[in-house]
Amino acid sequence: MTDEQLIAAARAAALKAYAPYSGFSVGCAILGEDGTLVTGANMENACYRLGICAEQSALTTAQHAFGLKNIARIAVAGGDGSGEALSGEQAVSPCGGCRQALLEASQLAGRDFTILCASGDGSRIERHRLSDLIPHGFGPANLSDAG
Ligand SMILES: [Zn+2]
Repeated sequence: MTDEQLIAAARAAALKAYAPYSGFSVGCAILGEDGTLVTGANMENACYRLGICAEQSALTTAQHAFGLKNIARIAVAGGDGSGEALSGEQAVSPCGGCRQALLEASQLAGRDFTILCASGDGSRIERHRLSDLIPHGFGPANLSDAG
């Protein structure tokens, strides 16, 4: 699967978002090492703070499908999902909470992840290492001294 195909899956997933409050739809596509593709989208709530991000939605499905430690590649895209295709010109990167959730999977996998961050229309693509998105992060490896 090419980067463009993975981003296309994230863009398609964003069209399934439930985002009536922000109007900002985000999709995340995660490819497992076995080739299984899972996706997620943001799901907002009338109680705003209960909204779920696309990345964490997809991570949950990834855990069920092939396990967090078997994640191979990740793409995120976001923008206006009210039309037939996702639109928007700015590349979207994971929020702070999702960076933390991705760090958990990264440390379980024992390697740094590259996150493909795309604009809604897919025209802009940024590649970020997770270690650059959340430097000095606190993850499961930091609990090794726990009793
Ligand atoms: Zn998030």
